[in-house]
Amino acid sequence: MSPYKLVAAGVTDVGRVRDGNEDAFIDQSNRLGLVAVADGMGGHRAGEVASATALESLRAAVASGQPLRDAIEGANDAVLEKSVSDQELHGMGTTLTAGMLGSDGYLVVGHVGDSRAYLVRDGKLEQLTEDHSLVGELLRTGKLSAEEAETHPQRSMITRALGTDPNVDVDIFSVDPRDGDLFLLCSDGLTSMVDDREILRLVGEKRADLDGLVKALIKAANKGGGEDNITVIAFEIGETNDSTLEDTAVVPVPNEPEPEPDDDDEDTLTEADRVPTVDTAVVSVDEIAAAYEREQAQAPAPRRRRRFLTRLLSFVIVIALLFGVAYLILWGLAS
Ligand code: MN
Repeated sequence: MSPYKLVAAGVTDVGRVRDGNEDAFIDQSNRLGLVAVADGMGGHRAGEVASATALESLRAAVASGQPLRDAIEGANDAVLEKSVSDQELHGMGTTLTAGMLGSDGYLVVGHVGDSRAYLVRDGKLEQLTEDHSLVGELLRTGKLSAEEAETHPQRSMITRALGTDPNVDVDIFSVDPRDGDLFLLCSDGLTSMVDDREILRLVGEKRADLDGLVKALIKAANKGGGEDNITVIAFEIGETNDSTLEDTAVVPVPNEPEPEPDDDDEDTLTEADRVPTVDTAVVSVDEIAAAYEREQAQAPAPRRRRRFLTRLLSFVIVIALLFGVAYLILWGLAS
């Protein structure tokens, strides 16, 4: 078991202008050391389906042991497949920015689109990801100034997304975390409404309360106009002290199904919950049911084996008695 863990808080908000929320996030910090935000597009219901589909596919792939790059490429396939097979979802896509804790304590970041990952270290806010947007490309090549970028009419146009092409170019890099580091994942609904200085100020104010921090950031984005859906995850890397877990693992466990984990605790507020086609809860309940059935099927086995041994033993005794009697009779006849 890894000595490191993610401690995270996340929230998504529709904002003050949009009718629906096409953003979504997953917080699998406890179970998988994985957090991710996705900002769907495609209008109507499609954007919601795109972000939810990508996140559920990512979660399942990481849970099955895939490395982050493969998991994100799989999420691309999953969104594209739905997009092609359903006229209403045609052309949908989503951004995806994910953080995953490696067993070595490094943070692996995977990224496609214009959602962002930030690191707050030594009182500075550092954007870890490059925006895969038209404006981002123009900025990087020096064809646009930062001021021009902020008001560019096509600033929401992204140049890379999941689900729009069979091939996707995923940015993957890892960060060697230090004590006190704070990470943020967010959709552009935060960064287009709240400037770096204000983000830093709120981080300084709420550093000890991640839940309070993400709520304060959402509030700031809404105060700034709330023109887009807003999603923020704040997280840090801590060390686990799992000695208690290891202790209890040696204690024989009574032959009972494990209590169902409380999914609501972790998969907070994923927009997936609202999409009937993608329901993470159904998956885990099935898994639990299957595990319970397997356990039930195995449980009677020792008893069956014991009954078989008792019968075998009785059989042997009866045969021995018969031989004994036959021997006595033969001995009697002979003498
Ligand atoms: Mn957005």
